[in-house]
Amino acid sequence: MARITESELERLKSELSLVRIIEDSGIDLKKRGKDYVGCCPFHDDKTPSLVVTPAKNLFHCFGCGAAGGVIDWVIKMKGVSFRHAVELLRNDSSLAAGNAAPIKQSTIPLLPAPVAIEADEQTALNQVIDYYHATLKTSPNALEYLASRGLQHPELIDIFKLGYSNRTLGLRLPDKNRKAGAEIRTRLEKVGIYRNSGHEHFSGSLVIPVLDRAGHVREVYGRKTINNLRPGTPMHLYLPGQHAGVWNEAALEASGGEVILCEALMDAWL
Ligand code: ZN
Repeated sequence: MARITESELERLKSELSLVRIIEDSGIDLKKRGKDYVGCCPFHDDKTPSLVVTPAKNLFHCFGCGAAGGVIDWVIKMKGVSFRHAVELLRNDSSLAAGNAAPIKQSTIPLLPAPVAIEADEQTALNQVIDYYHATLKTSPNALEYLASRGLQHPELIDIFKLGYSNRTLGLRLPDKNRKAGAEIRTRLEKVGIYRNSGHEHFSGSLVIPVLDRAGHVREVYGRKTINNLRPGTPMHLYLPGQHAGVWNEAALEASGGEVILCEALMDAWL
């Protein structure tokens, strides 16, 4: 499971207004004292038994016992996992609202797909790397890891398109039981982004692409950002198959004949 920092969870739970999210779901809330009351969508509610307490940002239904905060609301309302609910709220809290009736289990991705369904293998790989790059910029734990290695310069992150894989890619692809979802996953498995187990190859890793001069991804290196891994889990990963590409070709051309070869990509920056 990709790590979500406690502070980020706290931020989501406290900063996003539960009253607003519930109202955006099409449920009418009426103020009663310090609370709001409305009809609960999780049971057949004739008398408003859903109580929302803004001071605590919590809801509680006296009819069916449903209760919790914004994340619990989205899980119940959208029929998604905890991780998926967090990802929805993190990206756009309005996406977490929407329909007035709860969904048992969602099979349609609620977030935009970062990979075009029709993309060829090279394009799909490039787009996944773009997605990892965008993910890195919103992942405090990955940015902290980079800083701990002295690599936090924004220009460096952009020029080398550093990224982070946190297992959220699959949440954005069509479900694997659908034709489009199966096709795109097969393509991503061929380029090495997915393993045949269905897991993201670089899960939990800082992701460093080797780009050619045209900006196409030729190779990918991943390095786990946490050290307490299960025994046997490799710290360093590449795409399966033969290594390809030359990292930082521009520097090679500008070096005027003298080249320092490094064992690892990360050494080359330091
Ligand atoms: Zn209820």
